[in-house]
Amino acid sequence: MRTDINKINEHTPHTGLTEGMQVFAAGTSKYFKTGEWRNNTPVYLEDNCKQCLLCAPVCPDSSIPVKDQKRGAFDLDHCKGCGICAKVCPFGAIKMKEGVE
Ligand code: SF4
Ligand code: SF4
Repeated sequence: MRTDINKINEHTPHTGLTEGMQVFAAGTSKYFKTGEWRNNTPVYLEDNCKQCLLCAPVCPDSSIPVKDQKRGAFDLDHCKGCGICAKVCPFGAIKMKEGVE
């Protein structure tokens, strides 16, 4: 069931959003945990990672944080499980796993 547009806030589940309406005000999309849409989950194999940072810019959901020139753990609250990062990683440091974690 859709939620009245004036009542949408960060606690509104995605099923309550108006179609095409993923934010309720500017800069608020980070409050929606759209990772719940995911069917597959990327797994970070840190031992294989060479910190080349190729994965971070290709993520369409900005779910690979980079700090001090190193990538961090996946932001699974927003990752959609598209698998692009796993395809791009040249060192086998990201594997896709079926299901949501
Ligand atoms: S699976 Fe897709 S959405 Fe998730 S971190 Fe990788 S590129 Fe980003
Ligand atoms: S692309 Fe692979 S090796 Fe490079 S930073 Fe990302 S996970 Fe690490």
